[in-house]
Amino acid sequence: MATPGSDAAQTVRAKASSFPVAEGEDPWTEDEVEEVRQELLADIKRMERAIEVAEAGLADLFQEGTDGAGRDPADVGSSNFERDQEMSLAQNARDMLEQAQLAYRLFESGDYGRCESCGNPIGKDRLQVFPRATMCVTCKQREERR
Ligand SMILES: [Zn+2]
Repeated sequence: MATPGSDAAQTVRAKASSFPVAEGEDPWTEDEVEEVRQELLADIKRMERAIEVAEAGLADLFQEGTDGAGRDPADVGSSNFERDQEMSLAQNARDMLEQAQLAYRLFESGDYGRCESCGNPIGKDRLQVFPRATMCVTCKQREERR
């Protein structure tokens, strides 16, 4: 994966004022945009680390699994459970990483802040709390109900 360089920061600054805001919100300032951008970058790094840790844990568990001949079935059961736990942790982290990377790409293309489903502004308030959001509250809730 390409690491976002300093060129990206320049581009983002130039586009700050064109990011959409919800009705009644003030336009984005460069500082606000920069804050959200840093938050997204931190998210991406944190998720990448979480995935590494989860995958290292999984590798250990699989290792244990292969030389576990003649083990107590109860032990095997609990390590299967651990493995499932680790796998869902890794999967969660991967989902979040994808979402953060998607939001970051929108940032760079200047489309950040627009709902990917209905095209309405997501709203600055929401994005400042949840920089990974790529959908407005209405669409997100609709998706979660499905
Ligand atoms: Zn929407």
